[in-house]
Amino acid sequence: MTSIEHVPTICPYCGCGCGIYLVVRDGELVGMEPWKDHPVCEGKNCQKGRNAHACSTSDQRLLRPLVKRDGVFEETSWDAALSLIAEKLGSAAPDEVGFINSAKCTNEDLYVIQKFVRVVKKTNNMDNASRFCHSTSVPALLSTVGSGVMPTSTISIEQADCIFVAGPNLQETYPIIARRIIRAKRKGAKVIVADPRRTITARNLADLYLQIYPATDNALVNGMMKFILDEGLEDKGFIEERTKGFEDLKHYLQGLDLGEIERITDIPLDVIKEAAFMYGKAQNACILYNAGIAQHGAGIENIRALVDLALMTGNYGKPGTGVNPLRGHANGEGFGDMGPLPVFYPGFQKVNEETAKRFEDLWEVEDLPSTPGMTYMDMVEKCKVLYIVGANPMSAAPDTTRVRQALKRKEFLVVQDIFMTETAEMADMVLPAATSMEKDGTMTGVDRRVQRLYKAVAPPGDARPDWGIFCELAKRMGFEAAFGFDSPADIFEEIRKSVPQYKGITYERLKKPSGIQWPCPTEDHPGTEVMFVGKFPTADGLAQFQVAEYTPPLEVPDEEYPYIFTNGRVVFHFHSGTMTRRTRRLNNELPHGFAEINPEDARALSIQEGDQVRLTSRRGTIETVAKVTEDIRKGLIFVPWHFSECAPNILTGPCAGPPSKMPEFKFCAVKVEKVS
Ligand code: SF4
Repeated sequence: MTSIEHVPTICPYCGCGCGIYLVVRDGELVGMEPWKDHPVCEGKNCQKGRNAHACSTSDQRLLRPLVKRDGVFEETSWDAALSLIAEKLGSAAPDEVGFINSAKCTNEDLYVIQKFVRVVKKTNNMDNASRFCHSTSVPALLSTVGSGVMPTSTISIEQADCIFVAGPNLQETYPIIARRIIRAKRKGAKVIVADPRRTITARNLADLYLQIYPATDNALVNGMMKFILDEGLEDKGFIEERTKGFEDLKHYLQGLDLGEIERITDIPLDVIKEAAFMYGKAQNACILYNAGIAQHGAGIENIRALVDLALMTGNYGKPGTGVNPLRGHANGEGFGDMGPLPVFYPGFQKVNEETAKRFEDLWEVEDLPSTPGMTYMDMVEKCKVLYIVGANPMSAAPDTTRVRQALKRKEFLVVQDIFMTETAEMADMVLPAATSMEKDGTMTGVDRRVQRLYKAVAPPGDARPDWGIFCELAKRMGFEAAFGFDSPADIFEEIRKSVPQYKGITYERLKKPSGIQWPCPTEDHPGTEVMFVGKFPTADGLAQFQVAEYTPPLEVPDEEYPYIFTNGRVVFHFHSGTMTRRTRRLNNELPHGFAEINPEDARALSIQEGDQVRLTSRRGTIETVAKVTEDIRKGLIFVPWHFSECAPNILTGPCAGPPSKMPEFKFCAVKVEKVS
């Protein structure tokens, strides 16, 4: 008799944290079913979620460890593969080794990986592609409100009466959040969208759309704040009781030249004023942002300006308020929480001697590293041995040509993944990993919601879960005692001791479908939907205003490269396309990239819809198909992220300096030609 099981899990794509049921027939994963009483998605999933199972069942999965000999991959055994990796890692000095990880991994995988790097290799050289999304968010939010997390819940966005969408194309990139906004609108909420592209989000959701000149976001927000201040709409009580530094901001805004703001942003002042009043007069106003704000040389200033706007209007500490960073990956928040980062141990505990000592005691080990490790691009450039788990720098990192050259120089490159990616092709050793549907564990979504995943099927071939691979390696390298984990449940019990925010969360409690939002200090605590109620997590409990002046991008258009290049996601694909392009239904919807170009620019360049076009920056060239549309500003070109044959990062380039080291992904100068 046929047996059919419905196994609950979390969608492996974006950070919304939608629940889905995996359908398992006679032990085989055959589909998904919507999870109707899941609180985040209520049975509604976007196209990616509805096809989530397909990346697991793909016939392109990696099945066996592969070693490269004379430039050709050959299958090898796990025993031989792990012995060789142990030998290479063992013979390299701590500062010669780097680890790049992925927010596709579970919390349990990431916890074990960071522990391995610190305990076995005595280094903090580890990072992931979130560096490219939110390395500006962390310093901006820590220096203002004391924490880099989303302060409310995606569900409570419905309670906002004004939502300022500062950049993200939510209907394509976070469709379930867009759904909450539609509900808020039905209750009367007003929506402001600022984006150089008139996206589907701008067309469908905006009551007020601002087609802003690219990379001028903090100038726009400063202009909005000046109108709020001039009109006396600031929340004087909140400013007095909960913040400091307002006088400096006020002084700066009083001297602001609004004519200059209009010129910089290319938004008429009456429109900026309308946006300011729409936001400033709301009871609960919520700001949502992502890479379009953060991935700039001036990303820190952009985010600080948004925080200033929320603080001066008292929009923190209530449902449906705050400045909310949207993390791209399913476990984007969990990645930060688990600490596989160069500057934080688990629980965002700063890398220093005191923290290292605390973890030496907890883990019963010695000589943990107490100085910050290398960040993503430094490891790609400088480490002799690089171990990459679930990441694809050949597509995700800026300036692909430079990345390729750097990876070719590696003495030993290991890639652990579910598919043969562009980066895996360059490796000396490739290890087959399990997907999130093939292991137990937890993931933590964009709003700090920790949720359970349940193993639906066994991994194919010899593929293994990431945590198991690292435990086995640690044992081979002489650290058996610290890595004697039997199961993800076992690992989670240690996570609860290492990450204070997770202390009250247990696997048992996570059986209920709502998950638990951290911080959750005790086992009878319900979790925390809204943060910063009453006080901010700063030394004195107050938030700090920071003046955020406009600074131009690092590379601006000129005579030789006269167009601005930007990029983003589309609804059918995710990140570098590793998983979605191997999902037949998604790939059929959009099998290739394109370049959006304004009709005026197209006419000037004799380009028509469907023509092949060549885009060239100072770093490289890509070719793709022209899509002529009024929805993009004149002078701006947009290419989606997901297609390695026209990967935007062949063009992107300059990086900001410390502390963020953020590559300017969303703005560089290009020239455009029709390919004859
Ligand atoms: Fe998955 Fe995000 Fe779509 Fe939900 S909105 S189904 S989490 S990709």
